[in-house]
Amino acid sequence: MKKIYLKAVLIIIFVVLILIGIYTFSHKHLSLARNNVILSYMESSLQNEVFHSEDLEKLNDALSKEPYSPEHYFISGYQDYLDSNYEQAAENFTSAARLIEDSDPAFLKIYTYIFLNESLQAKGYSNILAENCRIALSYMSQSPQYKNNMDLCWRLTNTLLDEPEGIEQGIQLLEYYLAHTKGLSNESRVRLEGNIGRLESLVELYSEALYYYFDAFHIVATHDDVPDNLYYSNKLLICIGDIDYALEEYTSAISYYNSALWLPLDPENKGATDKALAVINVCQSYIELKQYDHAADAIKQLDLFLPILPENAKDDIEILRNHILAQILIEKKDFEGASRLLDEAVTLLESDTDAISFDKDVFVGLTYANLYKEQKQYDKALSLYEEILQKSLSRRIGLEKSLYLRIAEIYQSKNELENYSKYRELYKAELIRQNKIFTKDYVTFSEKLYEYNLLEAKEKRQQFFIIFANLIILAALLAIVLTIWYLKKWKNLSFTDPLTGLSNRTFLKYYMEKNEKRLSGKPISILMIDIDYFKKYNDNYGHIEGDRVIKEVSNTLKSCVRKNDVVIRYGGEEMVILITDIPMNATEKIAQKIQNHLAEKNIKHEYSEVSDKLTISMGIYNGEYQGENIYHLIDNADSALYHAKENGRNQYQIFSHKNSPVSAS
Ligand code: GH3
Ligand code: MG
Ligand code: MG
Repeated sequence: MKKIYLKAVLIIIFVVLILIGIYTFSHKHLSLARNNVILSYMESSLQNEVFHSEDLEKLNDALSKEPYSPEHYFISGYQDYLDSNYEQAAENFTSAARLIEDSDPAFLKIYTYIFLNESLQAKGYSNILAENCRIALSYMSQSPQYKNNMDLCWRLTNTLLDEPEGIEQGIQLLEYYLAHTKGLSNESRVRLEGNIGRLESLVELYSEALYYYFDAFHIVATHDDVPDNLYYSNKLLICIGDIDYALEEYTSAISYYNSALWLPLDPENKGATDKALAVINVCQSYIELKQYDHAADAIKQLDLFLPILPENAKDDIEILRNHILAQILIEKKDFEGASRLLDEAVTLLESDTDAISFDKDVFVGLTYANLYKEQKQYDKALSLYEEILQKSLSRRIGLEKSLYLRIAEIYQSKNELENYSKYRELYKAELIRQNKIFTKDYVTFSEKLYEYNLLEAKEKRQQFFIIFANLIILAALLAIVLTIWYLKKWKNLSFTDPLTGLSNRTFLKYYMEKNEKRLSGKPISILMIDIDYFKKYNDNYGHIEGDRVIKEVSNTLKSCVRKNDVVIRYGGEEMVILITDIPMNATEKIAQKIQNHLAEKNIKHEYSEVSDKLTISMGIYNGEYQGENIYHLIDNADSALYHAKENGRNQYQIFSHKNSPVSAS
């Protein structure tokens, strides 16, 4: 029994090993096939962004034998691209794209479309950018090597963003990528969701953006496999704060910014700039809430970050700090101090070539205008406000509402009622527009959230169901194995006589039920065996010795018949042998064989009245089986046995109706 289980386990292990072998072999084989020396060289160069033109020339030579291959066009295109000859580059990449086949290496397919789009973008051809982007993303999505390359994904999407509707297209493509790419790592999901959120806040889909930020934050918080989790958590909390800030929910914005600021810095200080910008926004939020003292307190946190900021970020943060401090001074009516800080900011702005934060000029300008307004220099203030208004509209900064209000206030102070009511109306219209956007946005968001919750619940139910089903299958298998095992064990036990190991009467019954049909019309022989003077043996040698003798006789019987013949311990020292499928006269030979074998064993029985050795008597029944009750046939053998005993023992007798005492009676 145990051996069978061991065998099954070994077979399963063997099959699993073979499957693993096939899997790894095929993978190795595939990657070997892909391993075209030239292409892999180009690939690694591209990845490390060290693709030199002299290398290109060499590669070009190598590929010149095949002038119309996609590789050829790709290399020519890349050369043009490096030379900023975008028109020619776009032509070459278009040719490469046309010749590309599905079996080509992923990097060739993906980079062809990236360079094609970047060349087209540089030339201002915008109509097929989104389609190219879609194709490249679908190649990425299918490539195990590239699917998690989010830098590349973002680089591709970036080619769309300057176009009208480009941001919306980018959002759609990234959402599709997120939903349909199998095997995305958690880090990739976080980065994708973060980028989708960023694009959505650009087009004022704030609630959608929040939804992605929260989801990304949830992934970072619940998975250990996201590297840089401090960096991402920090960034996401700040993004959430930014949305609250844009929605003018300043108290909530401050609390998200503070949650980010309380997080320790990531080991490489990558998040320092984000944190410094968060401090600025906390201060600006306090200023919007007119809590100037809090703002003055909060700005001190910058001292922590300024020394560790990258060089290009330092001046940005200093400009913004001056801007905040100037606003606080204006509130304290220290116009001179404010003016000095703003002048400093402007000087810094002029030398700020590598900006990490945009629109600082607008903010500084706005505060200048506020300063003029407070100093009642209304004309200066008005013209500056108008200038800022234009910038805010064209750059989508979203300052319109507060600008209209301030301009209206100035006209009110100047008693220019017509202009006052014009800007009041504009202010009102802007207020209504914003409310509408937020309401519509909120409705879409709620719908999405609802769908999301439904999906999540469904997924959970499915997961539960799968686990449950697996457990049930496992339990059922276990139950089946155990049942079979127990049944076999039980059957063996209940069919076997414990002393002799022979079958018992229960087995005889079972055997006949199973074989009745098969035996019908065939010869059947029954031998009934009884030990002579066994009572005396017991009495003189003891019961234990008697048991041993019963076993010895049983073994003798077994050794004289075929393996499939049925040998039964029928009663105390009475055994029955059931033999089928042999000619009737063959039973006599078996009986003789049994007697000879027993004689050879030479078991002493001094108290027997027929011999000094242990002997047996046998009754034999031979016949053709006609479906009779087996016990009836055994009775016939028994009567032949009776005859053998009567006739002096140590012999066999064959049943015949003539001499049967049973039949005679
Ligand atoms: P006969 O030659 O007429 O068969 O004489 P006998 O003494 O063998 O008579 P009988 O068959 O009536 O006696 C059977 C004896 O076998 C009675 C009982 O003590 C003994 N016996 C029955 N079952 C067992 C057993 O399991 N172990 C032992 N040691 N003795 C048993
Ligand atoms: Mg007996
Ligand atoms: Mg006996």
